[in-house]
Amino acid sequence: MRAAVFYSPNNISIEERNSASSSGNNEGKEILVRMNACAVCGYDVNVYRNGHTKVRAPVVLGHEICGELMESPNIPISHTGLNENAYKLDLVEGTRVVLSPVVPCLNCMYCDSGQYNLCTHLGEIGSSIDGGFAEFVRIPNNTLKIGGLIPLPNSLTNEESTLIEPLACCLNGFKRINSFSNDVVERKTFVILGDGPIGLIHLQLAKYLYGARTIVVGRVKHRLQSAKNMGADFVIELEENKDSPTSVIKEVLDLTDGKGTSVSIIATPNPDAFEVAAGIASKNSIINIFAGMPRHPSFQLDPNWVHYNQIALIGSFSATPKLIRESIELAAEKRGINLSTIITHRCKLDEIYKALEITEELLGLRVVINSF
Ligand SMILES: [Zn+2]
Ligand SMILES: [Zn+2]
Repeated sequence: MRAAVFYSPNNISIEERNSASSSGNNEGKEILVRMNACAVCGYDVNVYRNGHTKVRAPVVLGHEICGELMESPNIPISHTGLNENAYKLDLVEGTRVVLSPVVPCLNCMYCDSGQYNLCTHLGEIGSSIDGGFAEFVRIPNNTLKIGGLIPLPNSLTNEESTLIEPLACCLNGFKRINSFSNDVVERKTFVILGDGPIGLIHLQLAKYLYGARTIVVGRVKHRLQSAKNMGADFVIELEENKDSPTSVIKEVLDLTDGKGTSVSIIATPNPDAFEVAAGIASKNSIINIFAGMPRHPSFQLDPNWVHYNQIALIGSFSATPKLIRESIELAAEKRGINLSTIITHRCKLDEIYKALEITEELLGLRVVINSF
């Protein structure tokens, strides 16, 4: 099979590989999925340029995957947290699926409670083991056991389906927001810090699930235009070396009559975003740190500010197969969530460098590899 193999920063090579060979220490039965489409995530670009502690090269990147089964998994899917009846849909040869990239250990306390994304020995397809920038991807036994292959309805295209995994990650954050949000007064104002594909998926969810008033803060004109097209009530365009956290805070407060926001979602690796989120938070509000920050920034946090204002400071990371199934339902409804609006470019596997560059240079939103 053809695969784009990451060896070291700035070194990816397209080569022929034996599709039967597998990397990592997967035990038990594995099955092959033929790739239909795989989206290029900002994480892939970060690894391509800088490497990552999670990545053991040589490895094939790509974790936003839509494919079809080469054989039936034919193993009991029965680990904690699954609704088996909903799940035992026929996974047979040819079934179109979305893949959960999570490879859990099934031995830790998080796995015991079905929180596989928090597994203490987490492996990830497209990171620690081979992923979707290849003709085939091999699914480890533990991913099969947790129901990590989820069948797709015909109403979702291959391209759209690559964005189910990021949608599920965003939905994970919304579930956590939801557990605090009953206290939020008045109509909810969500501020989304970041205008990338992830920011815009958060925008769609905030509008659809909460009917929220939304403000998107970003730096890229065409992306902010997309945010407006998707229904953002306001956008704030940052200018390089001109805007400071203080000026963004003032703009948001002006837009909210000084009341501030109910929910802020940090969907950018820019560490200034936390200062902004703190400056615009109303009492009883929620801040979700969704994005990983490349530089491990430290920021000042006043415990008294959290205490007296009842601020809920939360994080969210990755998603479980259960959230992927819910995301498929949300996207298939075709009401508030339209994943096709997030896809702007298509490339062949041979054009992987181009796909990574388009992503890195923020020329569009998501690039999808759709020909292998
Ligand atoms: Zn991703
Ligand atoms: Zn575990």
